Amino acid sequence: MSQSQRSTADWQRLDAAHHLHPFTDYGELNTKGSRIITRAEGCYLWDSDGNQILDGMAGLWCVNIGYGRKELAEVAYRQMQELPYYNNFFQCSHPPAIELSRLLSEVTPKHMNHVFFTGSGSDSNDTILRMVRYYWKLLGKPYKKVVISRENAYHGSTVAGASLSGMKAMHAQGDLPIPGIEHIEQPYHFGRAPDMDPAEFGRQAAQALERKIDEIGECNVAAFIAEPIQGAGGVIIPPDSYWPEIKRICAERDILLIVDEVITGFGRLGTWFGSQYYDLQPDLMPIAKGLSSGYMPIGGVMVSDRVAKVVIEEGGEFFHGYTYSGHPVAAAVAAENIRIMRDEGIIERAGAEIAPYLQARWRELGEHPLVGEARGVGMVAALELVKSKQPLERFEEPGKVGSLCRDLSVKNGLVMRAVGGTMIISPPLVLSREQVDELIDKARRTLDETHKAIGGA
Ligand SMILES: *Cc1c(COP(=O)(O)O)cnc(C)c1O
Repeated sequence: MSQSQRSTADWQRLDAAHHLHPFTDYGELNTKGSRIITRAEGCYLWDSDGNQILDGMAGLWCVNIGYGRKELAEVAYRQMQELPYYNNFFQCSHPPAIELSRLLSEVTPKHMNHVFFTGSGSDSNDTILRMVRYYWKLLGKPYKKVVISRENAYHGSTVAGASLSGMKAMHAQGDLPIPGIEHIEQPYHFGRAPDMDPAEFGRQAAQALERKIDEIGECNVAAFIAEPIQGAGGVIIPPDSYWPEIKRICAERDILLIVDEVITGFGRLGTWFGSQYYDLQPDLMPIAKGLSSGYMPIGGVMVSDRVAKVVIEEGGEFFHGYTYSGHPVAAAVAAENIRIMRDEGIIERAGAEIAPYLQARWRELGEHPLVGEARGVGMVAALELVKSKQPLERFEEPGKVGSLCRDLSVKNGLVMRAVGGTMIISPPLVLSREQVDELIDKARRTLDETHKAIGGA
């Protein structure tokens, strides 16, 4: 039976019968039925009932270039005919992987000139955990094993990824984290200390790293890992004082800095990488999502010259790799995605024109009675839903209000995501000014309806 012949109810029935979804409450899904997305173009999705929806999340923070770019389909088609698969193990290589490596060394920070390919962001962080321990072993410091991360961080869903992540619910389901991973507080000003001076709060949150290193012993610490802006944790934007203080600590201590750019890479903050936005010098940088704009599953670890020199010159064989590391079709598509973004100036335009407009208009939503804070950077933003603004009072069950708001948003033709009581957006970078206006109008209508539904004035 062809796709278009099935009704929405058929799709939902089959889906419930056979498909175990990622990050989904199965009971709830099977009573409500899944939303079936059948088609997409530009910044819009269409569901199986024909509804047109503005994709405020670019899929899962990944379709940076927008949907429907035929060039990417054509590159995949040609590559599949020429060489659909070959591996990069045991001294082999192929043109798409080589070409993508070269392109990545051009667009990433200057001191990063090597890449280890993976299949996803989670894989990338597994590779990183292996690589940092390997690095310190090669340098004769095998005790440097502990990686320090942050509460509410998201670094993926494999055993290493979920352990590095700082999400209590994930840890509780799998006896995680594995040994050798520690977490410090996150720089969440609005959530933790809204009355405190942000600069002072940012410095204090950063100094938690220093305290943790002292507690564990510098000789045991391998690395610190962090997202420039915490994404899945609710778009947590650190105060301006945070990163300079983290940089100072990392420079003074003998540890590696891992900057997880899976979301912030490839233009999300209006710069090519979050490391450029915050002027960071990562030793290792996981990438995925925007690398192929989600058109193909592919990830990687950008390796700085400092680390590459050791693993290349001091090491023999690194006993690590994935069958699909540098997959030719995925690599060809990623390279074309990067070329288009570069040649069309998509990131520069988003950063200079669309992001300032989006952020200015998004701040207007901060005046809504339901919104305690409206924040954002570049092409990512969040709204904190609160029971009362003055005095500041939170909902007892913020997740319920967030879910309600998310469902109303989709009904109004806009995908927003809810993280507890925080509504977030991360639209394609190719969003137009008119589409910014559409997004804001739909978000405002959604806030009004949510407010009404919970008994607000
Ligand atoms: C999504 C994400 C990951 C995991 O990537 P997957 O491709 O889903 O495995 C890792 N780190 C960050 C910051 C992410 O947002």
